Amino acid sequence: MVKGILFVLSGPSGTGKGTVCKKLLEMEPELYLSVSMTTRECREGEIPGVTYNYVSKEAFKGMIDNGEMLEYAVYNGNYYGTPREAVDSLLNSGRDVLLEIEPQGALQVKKLFPEAVLIFLVPPSMKELKNRLVSRGRESSEEITERINAARWELAQADKYSVHIINDDLDMCTQQIMDYLDEKRSERRKIYELINEEV
Ligand code: 5GP
Repeated sequence: MVKGILFVLSGPSGTGKGTVCKKLLEMEPELYLSVSMTTRECREGEIPGVTYNYVSKEAFKGMIDNGEMLEYAVYNGNYYGTPREAVDSLLNSGRDVLLEIEPQGALQVKKLFPEAVLIFLVPPSMKELKNRLVSRGRESSEEITERINAARWELAQADKYSVHIINDDLDMCTQQIMDYLDEKRSERRKIYELINEEV
């Protein structure tokens, strides 16, 4: 059986990872979105077990110590991470898995799974990134400045990703990602066929 592909969608805060991800899943319900674990509070409108699995810091640290996390990061004082078991078993059963995570975690995945496909979502400009952070109204102006500074460092790591996609127009950006996923899948299928070809 062909193993599934691990796709990672990452990029600076405010580039629209969540929105793009939602649209990708609408276009392709077969793609499995890993449900992350976090120690942050559940926000209004979020569904435990669907948006995130919400746990205490102690429980999260216990999972790290037991090697149960594929990757994790501390972001804004809270832990966020991908539990390993579900991802491993889905990939082994041939399903493609999507992770929507911030860049520290994406780079950990690359070390652990060099074959993972890392998609870097890029803002059209730093001005637009700031506008998006301001208009979603979740962060203070100090936090926005911190995120913009973090974004500059994150953008400097862009070479470590498989592909860069600019999120200017949402539909166009999502379609570009879908096309890229399809291209990667057919490349992998072709290699698998060659490996198994009788001569
Ligand atoms: P939020 O609190 O806004 O839901 O998420 C904050 C950041 O954490 C976002 O950039 C989101 O992509 C990232 N994030 C969500 N889940 C994970 C995860 O499992 N691992 C890592 N490294 N980052 C995550």
